[in-house]
Amino acid sequence: MTQTDVQPPFRADHAPHPDYNAMPDAEFRAVVRHFIETHYPDIPRHLLRRLRWQEVCPWYAVLARTGWLAPTWPQALGGMGLNAGKHLILIEEYERFGCARMHDIGTVMLGPLLIQFGTQAQQDHYLTRILSGEDIWAQGYSEPGAGSDLAALRTEALRDGDHWVLNGQKTWITLGADANMIFVLARTDKSVRKQAGISFLLVPMEAPGVTVREIENLEGHAEFCEVFFDNVRIPIGNIVGEVNGGWAMAKALLGHERVFIGAPRLSASALARLEEIARREGVWSDPVFRDRFTQLEMDLADLSDLFETYVERLRTGAPIGADVGLLKICQSELYQRISEEMLQVAGSLGGAQLTDATARLDTAGTWLAARPTTIFGGSTEVMRNVVARASLDLPK
Ligand SMILES: Cc1cc2nc3c(=O)[nH]c(=O)nc-3n(C[C@H](O)[C@H](O)[C@H](O)COP(=O)(O)OP(=O)(O)OC[C@H]3O[C@@H](n4cnc5c(N)ncnc54)[C@H](O)[C@@H]3O)c2cc1C
Repeated sequence: MTQTDVQPPFRADHAPHPDYNAMPDAEFRAVVRHFIETHYPDIPRHLLRRLRWQEVCPWYAVLARTGWLAPTWPQALGGMGLNAGKHLILIEEYERFGCARMHDIGTVMLGPLLIQFGTQAQQDHYLTRILSGEDIWAQGYSEPGAGSDLAALRTEALRDGDHWVLNGQKTWITLGADANMIFVLARTDKSVRKQAGISFLLVPMEAPGVTVREIENLEGHAEFCEVFFDNVRIPIGNIVGEVNGGWAMAKALLGHERVFIGAPRLSASALARLEEIARREGVWSDPVFRDRFTQLEMDLADLSDLFETYVERLRTGAPIGADVGLLKICQSELYQRISEEMLQVAGSLGGAQLTDATARLDTAGTWLAARPTTIFGGSTEVMRNVVARASLDLPK
C-alpha cells in the first residue's frame, strides 16, 4: 500500500466488536497484539518524533476501517467501547510494538467532549468525519501570554447576526499544519470574571482570515504552529455547549488526560535503552553507575504503583482527584532524569542520528523529547501549586 493510494474518506468495514471489557485482561492483550502484528502498515516504528499526516495516514486508514480508531467511544457511535483498564492495555501494546502515534486530537479530545456536551447535529456531523479521516483536528487553547494561566486568553469572538467573528492568535498548536479543523477557546464576554466569559468554538482552518505559521521544535521538526484569526466568520452553530460555558467543558477532560500522560511507559522504555547503552559502553558493571541505575529503577517501580492507584480510580469510576498532578510530575521528572543518565553514559553514541534500525538508541533525541514533558498538559510548577492547594490545603 503506497501513501498516495491511502486518502480519506475511510469507511468502516468490520464485524461488530465483541464485548472486550468482559474479556480477561490477558486474552484482550493477546487480541491487541495479534491485531497490531496483522495490520500495522509499512511505516516507521519506535520513532520519537511525531509523523506528519501523509506519513501516518496508512495507519489511520487501518484503524478507521477496522473500527479501532476511537477506543473509548461507545460502540454505538463507532468506537470500541473500552473501559479505562482495557484502554491502557491497548496503549501499552501500541507502545511495546512502537506504533506511530496517529493524529488523535479528534478521537481523544474533541470526540469525548462532543459526546458529553455536543448537540445531536454536532455529533452526527463531526464524529462521523473524525472516523472517516475527513476532519483532522488541532487543539487551540494556548496563546502568547495565556498558557498556564489559560483563562487570561485574549482571542475574542463577537456575535454578528448568524456568525461569530473571531480575532486573535493561538500558539504551540501541535501538528496544526496538518489539521483542517481547530477547536478554539475564545472570549465571548469581557464584562464577567475571566473564566466565565469563554466559549468553545469549532473553526475550519480554510476559513478566510485563518493564517497558519509553522514553528520548528528543538530537533528541527515543524511540530507546532501559530494560528492567527483575522475577522474569521464562523456560523453560530459552531459553538459547543452554552455561550460563555467553554471553560468548564475545556477543563472537564483534563483529569483523565493527566492519568494517561502519567503512564510509566515512556520511562520504562527509556530505562531499557539506558541499560542497552550502558552494556555497549562497558559501564553496566560499574558500581557507581549501577547505584544510580538502581535508584532510577526503584523510582520507576514507585511510579508504576502510583499509576495503578489512578487506573483503579478510573476503573471504579471514583473521582480522579486534583492529586493526579503528582503522577504527571513524577512521570515527567523521572523520564528527564533517565534521559540525562543516557547522555552521561552514551559517549560517542550520544549524538547518533536516527535511522529506523537504531531508533531505540537515539540518546540525544530522547533527551530532547523529554524536555517538553514537564510543560505540556500542565507544567510541573503549576501542578505543584494545584497539589499544594487542593490536596495539602496550603495557602495561596
Ligand atoms: C510539546 C507541546 C505540545 C503542545 N501542544 C499544544 C496544543 O496542541 N495546543 C495548545 O493549545 N497548546 C499546546 N501546548 C502549549 C502548552 O499547553 C503550554 O506550553 C503550557 O500550558 C505552558 O504555557 P506557556 O508555554 O505559556 O508557559 P508559561 O505559562 O508562560 O510558563 C512559563 C514558566 O513559568 C512557570 N509558571 C507559570 N505560572 C506559574 C505559577 N503560577 N507559579 C509557578 N510557576 C509558574 C511555568 O511552570 C513555566 O516553567 C503545547 C506545549 C508543548 C510543550
